[in-house]
Amino acid sequence: MPIVPTKEILDRAFAERYGVAAINVINDLTMEAVLAAADELRAPIIIQTSVKHVKMTGVDAMYALWQTYASRVSVPAALHLDHCPERELISACLARGWNSVLFDASKLSVEENKRQCIEVVAEARRYGAHVEGEIEGFKRTEEMTGDEAEHVQTLDTVVDFISATGVDVFAPAIGNAHGMYKTTPHLDSQRVTDIVQATGIPVALHGGTGMTPEQFSDLISRGCAKVNISTALKIAFMKSGYDFMTEHPGDYDPPKIFTAQRAAVMEMARYHIRLFGSEGKAWT
Ligand SMILES: [Zn+2]
Repeated sequence: MPIVPTKEILDRAFAERYGVAAINVINDLTMEAVLAAADELRAPIIIQTSVKHVKMTGVDAMYALWQTYASRVSVPAALHLDHCPERELISACLARGWNSVLFDASKLSVEENKRQCIEVVAEARRYGAHVEGEIEGFKRTEEMTGDEAEHVQTLDTVVDFISATGVDVFAPAIGNAHGMYKTTPHLDSQRVTDIVQATGIPVALHGGTGMTPEQFSDLISRGCAKVNISTALKIAFMKSGYDFMTEHPGDYDPPKIFTAQRAAVMEMARYHIRLFGSEGKAWT
């Protein structure tokens, strides 16, 4: 089975300065399609699950899906729990076999975030799992005011958080947001360089959907080894379904629409894998 630790996937990417696509899937079909695209391009891949999706599907059922679909591919793959503020769910996923979690205590004070994150890292280590940390939180794109880059913690605070907690990857706010940007976001890419130089750990890029190819290349070269993609998958999945029904009115045979959606999700995944430079980087 090609399931490998998240840290191994990210450390290789960080050293060689390519980005690993960390794609949020929303059901069994999209999980299978993203893994199939990575397998086709011989790319390492991180499958991300949201709190909402894990709760909807159930921890055991989702892990069974993961094991089944991951066993069909031969590229390095890891299962990650995205933005989770709930310690109970983090514990349940780690115990079940998730390779990594993002402990999202960005709504708490940095001190309390740090205190709890130290516990989460210790818990993850017992399972050979890894932890992504964040202290600033991300807005939705529709909430952006244009001065996002100003509302960040100091570099000293970031460095202290990373060294005190021992997180394996850090997600800084650099003017990025979740959702669909109205215009190309203004990003503080120097902040990525500063954090990487001060800590030596890879950075996770959130809010990737809608950034330009040049922005991705620049950020990846600075140390963004984990590149999250979520909105692009939702759009590919929903739009392909809508387009199919528009082009085939009255055709209510579900496998046909599923086939169209799988193809669209695979194409979206291929595009990002190639863009991030991870095609052909699989070592298993
Ligand atoms: Zn995010």
